[in-house]
Amino acid sequence: MAEWTDHDGAMFPTLSPAQIARLAPLGVRRRVAEGEVILDPGMVPPGLYVVLEGRLEVVSSSRSGEVRITSHGPGQFTGEVNILTGRPSVVRTRAAAPSELLEVNHTALRQVVQTDPELGDVFLRAFVRRRARLIAEALGDLILLGSRYSAASLHLKEFLSRNAQPYTYLEVERDPGVQALMEHFAINPEDVPVLLCHDRPVLRNPSDAQVAKGLGFNVEIDESRVYDLVVVGAGPAGLAAAVYAASEGLDVLVLEGNAPGGQAGSSSRIENYLGFPLGVTGQELAGRAFVQAEKFGAQIAIARVAAGLKCNRQPFGVECAGADPVRGRAVVIASGAEYRKLSLPNLRQFEGVGVYYGATSLEAQLCADEEIAVVGGGNSAGQAAVFLSGIAKHVHVVVRGPSLAESMSRYLIRRIEESGAISLRTRTEVVSLDGTGHLERLAWSHRETGATETRDIRHLFSMTGASPNTAWLQGCVALDDKQFVKTGADLSPEDLEGAHWPLRRHPYLFETSVPKVFAVGDVRSGSVKRVASAVGEGSVVVQLVHRVLAE
Ligand SMILES: Cc1cc2nc3c(=O)[nH]c(=O)nc-3n(C[C@H](O)[C@H](O)[C@H](O)COP(=O)(O)OP(=O)(O)OC[C@H]3O[C@@H](n4cnc5c(N)ncnc54)[C@H](O)[C@@H]3O)c2cc1C
Repeated sequence: MAEWTDHDGAMFPTLSPAQIARLAPLGVRRRVAEGEVILDPGMVPPGLYVVLEGRLEVVSSSRSGEVRITSHGPGQFTGEVNILTGRPSVVRTRAAAPSELLEVNHTALRQVVQTDPELGDVFLRAFVRRRARLIAEALGDLILLGSRYSAASLHLKEFLSRNAQPYTYLEVERDPGVQALMEHFAINPEDVPVLLCHDRPVLRNPSDAQVAKGLGFNVEIDESRVYDLVVVGAGPAGLAAAVYAASEGLDVLVLEGNAPGGQAGSSSRIENYLGFPLGVTGQELAGRAFVQAEKFGAQIAIARVAAGLKCNRQPFGVECAGADPVRGRAVVIASGAEYRKLSLPNLRQFEGVGVYYGATSLEAQLCADEEIAVVGGGNSAGQAAVFLSGIAKHVHVVVRGPSLAESMSRYLIRRIEESGAISLRTRTEVVSLDGTGHLERLAWSHRETGATETRDIRHLFSMTGASPNTAWLQGCVALDDKQFVKTGADLSPEDLEGAHWPLRRHPYLFETSVPKVFAVGDVRSGSVKRVASAVGEGSVVVQLVHRVLAE
């Protein structure tokens, strides 16, 4: 690996004397001797260092030795996104000559980023570029030993990537030397996936929470504090609520059961989000929103699953699986929904490349003159089948039940029956998907006769509905018949009576049957299942949080 080059000067900028003068009163001067290490991998950086005199060098250290990434001369500064998130460093930084540094701690840095737009831009752009490069080059000393046949390996790869954690992936079946590594660390095949980091304990087939703890994702979270607002879920709705609340001065904690981004994080290209004419990957959108929330001072706890809501006392308590509960004066439920998925082992491989959960004109364009399958017997499946039959060569509607009568509106059933371009396959389920890169063929099987047929179908629409993530609420707030959270005007007098609504006023927009507890995004009854609407609701709800906190 060669030393990093910085084509446009945004990754390693040099601050002007005027910019350094603005920072100087916020920092502390420090002298370091040649060779002195100021930051090691695994250490949480106390802040950022601006070189006033001398030179710092940044190296990536691994078992095979040290590689110099860059060096910082006078006016240049250390750090990347982890300075804002409070996560440990993945590189070593040391003085290459006797040097004088200006140390700017976290609090001062956050103040600068929020109040000095010029300096804030310089820092944020450099931090984001540097982290992207660390990820692209898999720098740091984290090694993931995985297997192509293990779903847990794939899950862990996704968890690390979606949390912007650089790592090197070694596949047990393919990479030479893995066997030696496994013997060295006494790793058995059933331990895979395994995370190795030279100065930390080996993690064997770890849970998300163990990885988050081991890699220091949540070091800044303070469970003893009473937050103004606890947001559950860091999908588009929760991240928007965090950005707006933190930027408007509220003390916010977000609990995220997995990784930031939610369902949107798994979308390979979102093309209908305002302002991104060329589309944006869900992960990029989530990554930007995450940094934005951290910039304003929101705290985001990763792999922290809310397991219960104590809504009969103030402040509210949110119980967390395997961790201490947290408290908030207001709560925003943004735990989203999960599309019911076909239980096929290689489903993920084809999501977005042949398997779709929405049937908009975007997906439809892909299906012109092709034979396609729609799985599901509800109205969303019926609408998709009718819509797509105008574009595709032929549509197969695949349902497990004996007919559509129980689950679909009569008008849609009639259209399906009358269309020569749609075939209904009852008592049938998709049993396999196949293809290289893109879905190329699938097989379905009759549930009673067992007869199996393979067809060259390149597009499968999985329209089996979404289940809201509301089990953790344990009946605390009123839900609709599909278990989505009811809010505002959707709450009937009976709902409010049943919930012992204590106030004279009616619940505000997005407010649940419990005052000061709100629900936004896909988890909310009647919501539009879109990124833009989730972001919109997450930002609007903050106005109402201010209002209830002032009551
Ligand atoms: C594959 C795919 C592609 C899509 N493409 C598009 C598109 O192109 N355009 C578009 O507009 N929409 C698209 N959507 C829909 C869009 O992603 C959703 O409408 C949007 O993500 C909803 O945001 P949300 O924040 O309400 O919920 P979610 O995105 O569902 O986020 C909820 C978050 O809460 C977390 N969570 C759940 N339970 C708990 C708990 N108990 N404790 C802590 N955390 C919890 C989850 O881990 C998740 O991160 C797509 C959806 C999918 C699945």
